[in-house]
Amino acid sequence: MVVRITLLSVLLAGAVAAPIIARDAVPLSASQIPNLDAVKTEIKAYYDSGNWEREVSGVTASAQAFVDAQLRTHPVKPAIVLDIDDTALSDYIYEVSHDFAYDPWAYESDVQAEAFPAIAPTLALARHVKSEGVAVFFVTGRRTPDRAVTLANLLNVGYPKPDGLYLRPTGDRAASVIPFKSRMRAYIESQGYTVLLSMGDQWSDLRGGHAERDFKLPNPMYQVP
Ligand SMILES: [Mg+2]
Repeated sequence: MVVRITLLSVLLAGAVAAPIIARDAVPLSASQIPNLDAVKTEIKAYYDSGNWEREVSGVTASAQAFVDAQLRTHPVKPAIVLDIDDTALSDYIYEVSHDFAYDPWAYESDVQAEAFPAIAPTLALARHVKSEGVAVFFVTGRRTPDRAVTLANLLNVGYPKPDGLYLRPTGDRAASVIPFKSRMRAYIESQGYTVLLSMGDQWSDLRGGHAERDFKLPNPMYQVP
């Protein structure tokens, strides 16, 4: 399962999570801290207005243009690498239904139910680049026992059959997903692919190299280290 830092878990975990949030200074006054309920209301307005999807569409349009430009240089075995949660599939409905409080058991239940809808702009990107002869790989922090249901969810919502789907091994207890995700991109390269781009909603999806360009999708709901 994906371990995430949510708004509530940040408050509850205190000192453990605070450095990840990268607030530089200890607030001197409550007036310096965004009100949690107000932030949740803002997030819902951002998504429900369509502004989130518009912002995602802008990023995927840039990614498509980048792929098209690179294809004109005839790269060897061109490929893209996508994260899954909140990159290929949307967790927003799950997040709202749990008031943005991450519950690993409820989340796993939705994973098992293959319940996550596609993010339309990412789906369009994946299908289009696939039609151009570009391989589509998925690298996710979801754990290896969830492989079959994750693949089924991707296919059910219309993603092309992945050229590779890599889930984080259950035994990988590193504090960050960066080593796993960058290692998988290196592995894809070792198979002779040119990784044109990596796309994710978390900076930890993208750091560690092994992609010609990174594309970061917006996600104000949580952070994954
Ligand atoms: Mg994600």
